[in-house]
Amino acid sequence: MEELNQTQEILEREPYDVIVIGAGAAGMMAAGTAAKAGKRVLLLEKMEKSGRKVRISGKGRCNVTNARPAEEFLNHVRVNREFLTQAFSEFNNRATIRFFERQGVKLDIERGERVFPRSGKAWDIANALLEYCVDNGVKILYETRVTEILTLGGRIYGVRYRNKRGFERKEECRKVILTTGGVSYPATGSTGDGYNFAADLGHTIEPLRPSLTPLKTTHPQMKYLHGLLLRNVQATLFVDGEPVCEEFGEIGFSERGIEGAVALRMSRDAVDALIDGKSVKLTLDLKSALDEETLRARIARERAEMAPTEFFSELLRRLVPKPLVFPLSRELDIHSKQYLSKLTDEEVTRLIKTLKKLTFPISDYAPFEYAVTTAGGVRCSEVNPYTMESLLVKGLYMAGEVLDLDANTGGYNLQIAFSTGRLAGLLKE
Ligand SMILES: Cc1cc2nc3c(=O)[nH]c(=O)nc-3n(C[C@H](O)[C@H](O)[C@H](O)COP(=O)(O)OP(=O)(O)OC[C@H]3O[C@@H](n4cnc5c(N)ncnc54)[C@H](O)[C@@H]3O)c2cc1C
Repeated sequence: MEELNQTQEILEREPYDVIVIGAGAAGMMAAGTAAKAGKRVLLLEKMEKSGRKVRISGKGRCNVTNARPAEEFLNHVRVNREFLTQAFSEFNNRATIRFFERQGVKLDIERGERVFPRSGKAWDIANALLEYCVDNGVKILYETRVTEILTLGGRIYGVRYRNKRGFERKEECRKVILTTGGVSYPATGSTGDGYNFAADLGHTIEPLRPSLTPLKTTHPQMKYLHGLLLRNVQATLFVDGEPVCEEFGEIGFSERGIEGAVALRMSRDAVDALIDGKSVKLTLDLKSALDEETLRARIARERAEMAPTEFFSELLRRLVPKPLVFPLSRELDIHSKQYLSKLTDEEVTRLIKTLKKLTFPISDYAPFEYAVTTAGGVRCSEVNPYTMESLLVKGLYMAGEVLDLDANTGGYNLQIAFSTGRLAGLLKE
């Protein structure tokens, strides 16, 4: 009885209908949606500006969504597709495109159905989200870090936060939307606070792993490959000797490891396999358009056009990008200055095998600092897919990367944030 009276008292005092924690992609979509529906919204953001991650997304261009048809789209979501279906049907990729165009951002669809702002500026996307909030009357406090979500009798009654000047404050409210993101690229503000809040309130957190992250290799030539970008490569990921996925596209090499769209997409399976102690290797077919026999004929043709006194490196130069010539001759154990006249049939066969199957043992993966997304998070079966409300705590809604949802590169992850953020912002009961 006393508890009920206390709750009643709180409801009469509170100035906001909902507090949103985190002004990222999901948080701004949720806050703007709630405010547009007439709710009084407070948005708390611990960084000095909104959408830091959105502002650097897509290499500064922001791949805002993907225009593929719904079913194909959901195939790119790695887990909990069923759970996402409701949020996606409420606000799908078409709705995202309409939303930004209505906000005045012109969009273009590029290769792979990836959607980008025509301006090529991720800032336009972040600013459009911010304007959506501001124009609908959301109150935003920056440099304000939420430290605790408060509950009373199994329901939300507010949040505790540290304000800009470092003082602890409490704001009472019956509804909270948790959109604190994951733990990847923590410098953008996503440091995983939301997982702790949700766990403290009884939620299960599925193990967190970096996803879309560079892969580390022990390959002896790796140090010579930094900066190299290979296009039109057919890559295969092997786990315990079995092929588990194949991808075609770009592969890059840097101090962080093997990256580029193809390696990042494969990293999800590679990371899980490495965590389970399995052996992982990546093979690259550098001449995927040619089978071995056609490649042999091509090499013979090239040699016929060259003088016997030309070097092996010059033959390689006709077959692969320049930065690959030296590492490849080391890999083959054929001196780059060997005369073509001395090249044996066995060496040509070795060259063909290597071009068709350059193998990188994968020993590790880059940490969260370099991962595009976080795999794992708040268990989806503890959240109502029709509302995004917690099934454990009344008045707690969750959206975006804090949930156990992650997808391939290609605009899918931001769409997850927009779809779930939109649904949470509707504050359905
Ligand atoms: C380098 C990079 C490039 C990417 N490019 C793309 C892309 O092109 N396309 C795509 O679809 N996806 C991309 N992603 C992934 C995508 O950006 C994320 O999946 C998406 O931003 C997640 O949205 P979110 O709102 O859940 O979390 P975030 O955008 O991370 O927002 C979380 C917000 O919560 C705030 N916060 C955290 N804790 C607190 C607290 N205690 N109190 C107050 N505020 C708090 C943070 O400061 C942050 O502003 C990229 C990611 C990275 C790292």
